[in-house]
Amino acid sequence: MLKTLTKIFKVGIVTEPLFSDKTSTEFEKTGSICKKLIATKFSGSFAIRQIDAGSCNGCELEIHALNNPFYSIERFGIHFVASPRHADLLLVTGPVSRHMQAALITAYEATPNPKLVIAVGDCGACGGEFGCSYASCGAVSNVIPVNGIISGCPPTPTELLRGIINILTKK
Ligand code: SF4
Repeated sequence: MLKTLTKIFKVGIVTEPLFSDKTSTEFEKTGSICKKLIATKFSGSFAIRQIDAGSCNGCELEIHALNNPFYSIERFGIHFVASPRHADLLLVTGPVSRHMQAALITAYEATPNPKLVIAVGDCGACGGEFGCSYASCGAVSNVIPVNGIISGCPPTPTELLRGIINILTKK
């Protein structure tokens, strides 16, 4: 016990700070650009339906972080909704498993026009580690039309927000 306590005392805290100022500043800047675009093009409110079409859940952890008290994405006018019928954008992680293929098509068809789709993560973009196989359709674009891609394994919250800005800028 004494040996362990001595070691803890000598080593000290070795983890990185929870959030660096740099992360915070970049996210705030990106968020304010996003807020302006949403105010101009979507009357201040932009609805996203997230669909996990077969991911490892790594991408979902970063997407969920957008709603935590630090990132708090709702203050920029972005809301995650429970139904594709209420969504402006489908945020889809992949690869698309064969089991999710029909459900993804149904969700796409249920989303009102004009709809947007972003494929998230390297798996969503091209199938990533998993590719195409008897169990996987690979990229999201192999199943439904895609308007944008956010690469990364997984992409960070700031990269996710930048990807949303890219698609809003083109619209
Ligand atoms: S891109 Fe990486 S984190 Fe995202 S689903 Fe694929 S393996 Fe998981």
